[in-house]
Amino acid sequence: MRLDVERVRKDFPILQQKSHGKPLVFLDSAASAQKPQAVIDAVSEFYSRSYANVHRGVYELSLRATEVLENARRKVASFIGGEERETIFVRNATEAINLVAHSWGRQNVSRGDEILITHMEHHANIVPWQLLCEEVGARLVVAPIDDRGQLDLHAFEALLSPRTRLAAVCHVSNTLGTVNPVAELARLTHACGARLLVDGAQAVPHQRVDVHGLDCDFYAFSGHKLYGPSGIGVLWGRAELLESMPPFLGGGDMILSVSFEQTLYKEIPYKFEAGTPDIAGAAGLAAAVDYLENLSLEAISRHEHDLLEYATARLASVPGLRILGSAVPKAAVISFVLAGVHPHDIGTILDQQGIAIRTGHHCTQPLMQRLGVPATARASFAIYNTREDADALVEAVETAREMFA
Ligand code: PLP
Repeated sequence: MRLDVERVRKDFPILQQKSHGKPLVFLDSAASAQKPQAVIDAVSEFYSRSYANVHRGVYELSLRATEVLENARRKVASFIGGEERETIFVRNATEAINLVAHSWGRQNVSRGDEILITHMEHHANIVPWQLLCEEVGARLVVAPIDDRGQLDLHAFEALLSPRTRLAAVCHVSNTLGTVNPVAELARLTHACGARLLVDGAQAVPHQRVDVHGLDCDFYAFSGHKLYGPSGIGVLWGRAELLESMPPFLGGGDMILSVSFEQTLYKEIPYKFEAGTPDIAGAAGLAAAVDYLENLSLEAISRHEHDLLEYATARLASVPGLRILGSAVPKAAVISFVLAGVHPHDIGTILDQQGIAIRTGHHCTQPLMQRLGVPATARASFAIYNTREDADALVEAVETAREMFA
């Protein structure tokens, strides 16, 4: 099945507008993806017709809202090959990782233990582990990458030891596009008796993810990068791990009973969902999952890969332009620097042409240090992008180069 991009583009109302008088070319979906009408409608429909708080009500609206939330859980769980009770709604990938660090981490990591991450992690998969290490006296160990932005698998394996309690790795790097061999990392990590957490924020929108096939222990992602609303994200975890973990946040909805002497918690996933959840966000996320399943993840991957190859070849022909990250396989994210032009200037010049890209450190400052640059310009491609978008990008980059020549 081929992706019908023209049809897809019509589903995204935001793409119909102009920016600075030019057709909008949106190349920043790695930061957050735009929303199809189906997602906007699902959120609006929920607020218009079914809104009430969930779980505690006995009246029709509350039961309907509960069904909306639980239906979303079913859809999301099946989308990633997990079970409903293993699928926890959180705010975003950041919160999902923090949940594991606080709950599993405090229970399972102690003085002298190690947590292994990689040099390409987003701050969301660095800082929670640093905080945990500081608190319990553990050590953060970093697996190196090579100059192409590929994880050094031998070094990763060598850094695993009986002291390692957890490896935490991104599935796809938001800066380099590197796709990590998660199943292989799971094998290595488990062989050493440790657990594997995967930050899937940049993977789920672009390729089929099956948490059991990957054999990871935790998988985290955000709804907003998956064409869903912002404010909702997902932590998937193995049931036996989640069951043995203490709650992360305490409050309403996560308890069976409360007395001043003792509180009993609900079963998973509710034990980890204190307070009123983002019900409308869940409605929107379910619609996003339906939307992507209808398009087919396989067709999406093929389309984006074509754009990656096309845009890479065209950008590589711009004099003075250097692409950072050439791992195989690679997702449709292209970070680049241009001799003599600061990435922020590139971003501003492109903006004048109606082209939205991201510039800066992309929340990967240690990676920037490894690459020896303070910042990059980053174009990221999604289901609604075309080869014409890549052409517009290259033309505008040429303009930037000429302006600074
Ligand atoms: N991990 C990766 C690889 C990301 O790219 C991002 C966001 O850019 C995050 C984690 C954090 O996502 P969020 O801000 O939605 O929590």
